[in-house]
Parts: sequence; structure tokens; C-alpha cells
Amino acid sequence: MKEMQEIQETLAIIKPDGIKNAIKIIEMIYKAGLTVKKYEVRMLDEEILKEHYSHLTDKPFYPKLESYMLSGEVILMILEGKNAVEKLRELMGPTDSTKAPKGTIRGEFGTDITYNAIHGSDSELSAINEINRFFNKKQKRI
Ligand code: UDP
Ligand code: MG
Repeated sequence: MKEMQEIQETLAIIKPDGIKNAIKIIEMIYKAGLTVKKYEVRMLDEEILKEHYSHLTDKPFYPKLESYMLSGEVILMILEGKNAVEKLRELMGPTDSTKAPKGTIRGEFGTDITYNAIHGSDSELSAINEINRFFNKKQKRI
């Protein structure tokens, strides 16, 4: 019989404000049944952020979001596991950290709707595109 849930990959980014709690965040990720397949610590730049947040560049808060994401190094991670996309989103909690329950990453380590410690792909297609964007620059993007 076919497995009900397939092994998936998803992209997580521990944002600059999450770095000081990175060990605890990674521990939560493993406890949720996901593993880190690949990781890289680096600074992002304006260009890749404009692509990554292309759905938000015309929002009034975009300049604040950009300077936040450029304020320090991030940890880019490819996570792997059953139902990884949804599992990570659940573990993160909602965008607004003040509304995120305790026990979620944003509930524990985020501050507000901007400074929310972590990014996670929101669908299987976004995960493929984002993994390609951050880890495989030279390949054609979907
Ligand atoms: N964000 C913000 N103000 C808002 C909404 C979003 O600063 O009103 C930031 C926040 O850091 C969020 C990111 O923009 O994580 C991307 O927004 P999105 O709606 O995609 O939320 P996410 O998928 O990260 O929960
Ligand atoms: Mg999003």
C-alpha cells in the first residue's frame, strides 16, 4: 500500500531575530519529526529578498521588512520529512507572533507581525521554488 504522507522538502529561514534562539528552534524542528538536510548561514541581499517577497514589495511595510531581513545573518535550511510543508507551518504558528500560541516557534521567539523569527514555505510549489532560489541559483526556476 502506498504511504499516506510522502516525504517532502520545505525551506525554512531562521530570520536575523531568530538567530540567538537557533539551537532551540532547530531542536523544535527535530522534535516535530523533521530533519535538516542542508543548511547555510549567510547574509541575504535586496535582490533575492525582492524575489522571495515579490507578493509584498508594494506593501507599505516592505521597507521595514527588507531592513529587518538585511539586519544580520540568516540560517537557510532545507527540511525533510513527512508532510514537511504543513508540519513546519504548524510548528511556526501564525504570521503575527502576538497571536501565535505558546509552543510554536513564533509564539516562543517572535515579537510581533514583522519580527517573527522564522520563514517557512507556504505550499509544496513554493517550497520547490524557494529551495531552488536559495540553494540552486543557476537552475531554471519554475
Ligand atoms: N510581514 C510584516 N507585516 C505584515 C505582514 C507580514 O512585516 O503585515 C512580514 C513578516 O515578517 C512575514 C513576512 O512579511 O513573515 C512575509 O509575510 P507573509 O504574509 O508571507 O507571512 P508568512 O508566510 O511569513 O507567515
Ligand atoms: Mg509567506
